[in-house]
Amino acid sequence: MSDPLVEVTGLGRDFKVRAGRLQRVVGLASAVDSVDLTLGSGEILAVLGEPGSGKTTLLRLLVRLLDPTQGSIRFRGSDVTKVSARDLRSLRCHLQVTFQDPETVFGSLRPVSEVLLEPFVAQGEGAAADAATLLRRVDLGADLAEKTMGEVNRDEAQRIGLARALALQPELIALDEPFASLDRAQRINFSALLQELLVSTGTSFVVSTHRVDHVRDLVSRDLVSRDLSGGTEGRVCVMYSGRLVEIGMASAVLDQPAHPYTLALISAQSGSRPLTDLLEGDVPSAIASPGGCRFHTRCPDAVQRCSTESPQMRPIAGPAEAPLDHEAACIFV
Ligand code: SF4
Repeated sequence: MSDPLVEVTGLGRDFKVRAGRLQRVVGLASAVDSVDLTLGSGEILAVLGEPGSGKTTLLRLLVRLLDPTQGSIRFRGSDVTKVSARDLRSLRCHLQVTFQDPETVFGSLRPVSEVLLEPFVAQGEGAAADAATLLRRVDLGADLAEKTMGEVNRDEAQRIGLARALALQPELIALDEPFASLDRAQRINFSALLQELLVSTGTSFVVSTHRVDHVRDLVSRDLVSRDLSGGTEGRVCVMYSGRLVEIGMASAVLDQPAHPYTLALISAQSGSRPLTDLLEGDVPSAIASPGGCRFHTRCPDAVQRCSTESPQMRPIAGPAEAPLDHEAACIFV
């Protein structure tokens, strides 16, 4: 990869846990812990994990909607972990986000045109595009500008959120569970739109989802439409209990998963057995993350040392002539 667009090192975010009548701090919840990753320009990275795995918090950290409590984020080589409010405002032009439920976030009574043009207002600029132009960018008709957010369907709401995020021509957009309320045809069309935008604008996308089939829809278009030999295949990272457990090129992670958690997610969604049959219990609460490998309380392959040893990401060996861009955090890798 040439110079990365975003470089994240040791990124973490804790939240204070309060209790009692006086709301005293009684502990810390570790929502994201020790995350390292890089993202290139014009790249799609899918973030896969069950609800509670830390995906949303990671996305919000990446676009600086949340302050990290540990680690650093470099954007185009500059540390943006701690920036002034003024610098953060100009950073907003480059880092944007879309939400799982745009109607709730933006308000069902607000006109679509107002939602679309708000980024220009927030930057104190005149609008560089009108609402109709922004809607056309995401394959929607200009007539939607006259409606309210409560009058559009879920697919249109996701596209409006994307059009709004694109307004300031950002370099990175984080999309939080954009597929959650879309049917298969809508997912495929939305994935195709992201692929087209990737090529036409060079914007990078980080897309969170809890479903393997959503990741396949997202990256399969990438495999079809882009030159694999040029290294532009989409990447996937898998999160569990706030930590990355596997990351790599989509074909490597989805076809040859190395971490037992990734394997369980893929096995469950290929339809053979439900995840509850493959793994006991739920993702542990961020307030009580287990020591050692955080997955050891559910891992079918766990051994004694997994409860005390915290595995680091290690490269998966590939053929010498074509080393894999694929890592996993398990003592058996
Ligand atoms: S380190 Fe142990 S518990 Fe963690 S994934 Fe590997 S085998 Fe399972």
